[in-house]
Amino acid sequence: MKSDNKKRKILAIDDNPVNLQLLQAVIKRAQDIEVIVESDERKTVARAIEERPDIILLDVMMPQIDGFEVCHLLKHNEYTANIPVIFLTANSQTTAQISGYASGAIDYITKPFEPEILMSKIRVILNMIIHLENLLEEANTDKLTGLYNRRYLQEVLSPSVRDANLHDCDLSLIIIDIDYFKNINDTFGHLTGDLVLKRISAKVKENLYANDIMVRYGGEEFLIILKNTEIKVAEEIAQKLRKVVEAITWEFTVEPLAITASFGIASTRTVQSDDSEDLIRAADKALYVAKNRGRNRVVCNNQIIAEDEERLDEQQTASELRNKVNELAGKLKEQVFEVLKVFVKTQEMRSPYLAQQSCKVGGYVKKVGAHMGIFERHLDMIYNAAILHNVGKLSLPDSIIQCGNILSDNDQKILRQHPRMAADILGVTELFRDEKEIVLHHQEYYDGTGYPRGLSGREIPFGARLLLAAVTWDAILSGRGYREPKSVAEAMEIFKTLSGTQLDPQIVEAFVELAETGELICNDEMAMF
Ligand code: GH3
Ligand code: MG
Ligand code: MG
Repeated sequence: MKSDNKKRKILAIDDNPVNLQLLQAVIKRAQDIEVIVESDERKTVARAIEERPDIILLDVMMPQIDGFEVCHLLKHNEYTANIPVIFLTANSQTTAQISGYASGAIDYITKPFEPEILMSKIRVILNMIIHLENLLEEANTDKLTGLYNRRYLQEVLSPSVRDANLHDCDLSLIIIDIDYFKNINDTFGHLTGDLVLKRISAKVKENLYANDIMVRYGGEEFLIILKNTEIKVAEEIAQKLRKVVEAITWEFTVEPLAITASFGIASTRTVQSDDSEDLIRAADKALYVAKNRGRNRVVCNNQIIAEDEERLDEQQTASELRNKVNELAGKLKEQVFEVLKVFVKTQEMRSPYLAQQSCKVGGYVKKVGAHMGIFERHLDMIYNAAILHNVGKLSLPDSIIQCGNILSDNDQKILRQHPRMAADILGVTELFRDEKEIVLHHQEYYDGTGYPRGLSGREIPFGARLLLAAVTWDAILSGRGYREPKSVAEAMEIFKTLSGTQLDPQIVEAFVELAETGELICNDEMAMF
């Protein structure tokens, strides 16, 4: 990383010029370190702000302010607080050393000192600084594009806006959003989508100055901070960048393809707020207007006219309505879910073999799904399906439901109807469309020998594969009239034999891993409705 090659700086503060000369002579031997000296301790903070040294070497006994006080001042200034301070002093008293560390120093070296030891300590601290810089750089960098990420933006934008307003300079913000990017993913695949993001961001960056800060703001959105740049100039820059993006040639398709982007711009002067969020909001609004006006264009926030505002209002209303309908549908779904849950519980009470089955199975699904890193929303849906999967058993006679023995062929046939019955009941409303698919297929076996359709492998929805594994795990642990309940260790062995035949090997692996940690035993918490 780049931080390793930088020449490092040490600022030495001592009222005695002879000491400073000695230090200079010692440290200068290291080619990669520059030494700056200051004999007036009152100037320490100002020099540190100006020079931005990596380390400060500080004397203790000085005429105007003692070293501890100087260190205290450094540690309480936002620009110098993080610079490591090493005391270098003839005062070797224990109390003095303690005061030194208490004032925020990283080390305390007493004179006379061994030059080699001092240099070794400096090296250790410099290595630590480089390591921290690398970590910080990684934390601030977007992996795909190598640009700065949102975390860095948060750090840098507010102070920059404040600074611009304070010095009455203009700072402009450009937000770029690739047009119809979803189509690129849908047509050419995500990997190509990634390539497009990388190339567009690299091309745009190439056309900026080193001082401009470019951030990956969202999936296919970028943000550029232009300091000391009025909005008119930012507009010209954006127009240039727009043409650069449009002109990129793409080799993954034979048909000529122009991928374009829209640009929204705002500046501290056109927004007049100290809040950087206001600036982002204004640029974002201009971007929306650019999209509305037909995309592949640049709009500044001070160019928005009444007609644009009307369009935005209409969209806002439509989007609020969409959200409201979604919210209501969610609430309705919850209520219907509660009713169905009670219904399932009633069915499960008809048989000792079904008692609490859906709850236990729901518990396994949640634990194993989470262990496999399934997204929360997807997992919630599989959980719902687990809770509802017995809803079709309503149609089964007591003689089958309560049977503790192996069923006759005919009864087997009847039993096999229950996923379809459940799907029919859930299919009454669109609210459980996804859950219905899982319940319908939760008896499909990985090798294609299950029912109702004999699907195999990845043809079977993932949720259905997980649900079957959970139902099977529960059946092994709970036992049936004709089969004793098994221990977890036995269940793990049985599961391994079902891998690739009845069950999905990856899911079996996840069950076994979790069972080994003791997390897959049915407990009271799981059996609660
Ligand atoms: P518009 O012109 O209105 O901006 O339409 P759009 O399709 O560009 O916008 P939309 O916000 O609907 O879609 C953005 C898409 O970007 C959706 C998302 O899947 C995709 N995306 C986000 N991040 C990445 C990524 O890192 N890689 C890839 N390949 N796609 C991503
Ligand atoms: Mg977008
Ligand atoms: Mg887009």
